[in-house]
Amino acid sequence: MRTSLSLRVLGVLVLLLCPFVYGFAQTTDLHRVSNTPRSDGNGYVMRYHLSAPVDSFEIIQPAPDLIQMTLYGENIDTTGITLPEQSNILQEVRLYKLKYGYGVDIYLDENIYLKSNAYFDQNGKDILVNLENSSQIELERYAQQFLAINWYEELVEDDALNVNPPDSAPVSASYNNVKNKLRFDKIVIDPGHGGWDPGSIGYKGVQEKEITLAVGLKLGEYIEEHLPDVEVVYTREDDSYLGLAELGHFANLAEADLYVSIHCNSFHNPYVRGAEVYFLGLHKSDAAFEVMKRENSVFKNEVDRELSEEDLLVYELAHSGYIATSEKIAYMIEDQFKNRAQRKSRGVKQAGFQVLFEASMPAVLVELGFITNPAEQRFLTSEYGQSIMASALFRAIRDYKVEYEQKQAYNVSSN
Ligand SMILES: [Zn+2]
Repeated sequence: MRTSLSLRVLGVLVLLLCPFVYGFAQTTDLHRVSNTPRSDGNGYVMRYHLSAPVDSFEIIQPAPDLIQMTLYGENIDTTGITLPEQSNILQEVRLYKLKYGYGVDIYLDENIYLKSNAYFDQNGKDILVNLENSSQIELERYAQQFLAINWYEELVEDDALNVNPPDSAPVSASYNNVKNKLRFDKIVIDPGHGGWDPGSIGYKGVQEKEITLAVGLKLGEYIEEHLPDVEVVYTREDDSYLGLAELGHFANLAEADLYVSIHCNSFHNPYVRGAEVYFLGLHKSDAAFEVMKRENSVFKNEVDRELSEEDLLVYELAHSGYIATSEKIAYMIEDQFKNRAQRKSRGVKQAGFQVLFEASMPAVLVELGFITNPAEQRFLTSEYGQSIMASALFRAIRDYKVEYEQKQAYNVSSN
């Protein structure tokens, strides 16, 4: 399937206008609460996966091992919700349906000291709960300022909805909706640069944007042919340009399962060659920083935006759940480049690409090779070379999809 971006934008505009048309009829679907270690090792991040933003929320921590949240919104639907499993961090998550929304109790293990605060994700819908490593003394002092809420005084129904996932997830129509969300069925292909932005200029004047488009379209064709249940969304299908800031925005709107940004490298030394795969992260090496500066340069010229420490923290939280997935896919692609396509590999690296920052989903950026190296330039401008690279990407994505869906099927059936 191929979705035209302009139609998609139109559709999104219609969706955005809907609340004004239908008033309060729209429901907010809370289908999952997940918990992931923060990629910087400083704690954990919980994500409330929401189909639309709640009106507002509050978070308190009246005891070191109890976090209480209030989600305000008249039509929050939690049917079939998946909650994080009990672990040595998390004892239990309990939901209470209130007159004005939902109350949530999060019971932490009593031997662990995590201080909580919460943010709206940059996608504007999900809520992120930052659980940051703390000490017993600090946490006890912090908890003293809060009075625990007794949800039973505010309940709609008589008893609490104890939605402990393994036994009691109700099977209903929306259960299937939830199940569909667990499928890997949408991918964003981003052929780097385009329009007035040629990207790197290589040997014999070849432009990066031409190669990235050719390989991106081939990859899309392979996916459409061999994985017909996967929808392909392109950030561009011709020689047009989309600003990097817009790219990430589109990607979020598309709610895809993976974002693949395709690029080619350049260097002043023509002997340097090889493919690289990047995934998002804040722990960048100096070499990765150089590539990052180049690939981000378009963005920096356009919008001079300084990221505050709080921005970076929210980024870190927002992406913690995706970083492990992105890293896994990055290694699967690198393996294909190296062992199946027989390309020289420069490895998997972590960097803070703007385009990956903006995408609230697993995201990788591939550098197919150096177009300043004559041999790689010839390979990457040839039909043959482009097919090889596109099919290497395709195989990695197909293998990941199979693995992902097997895992999800296991999770669903073990409920
Ligand atoms: Zn590039």
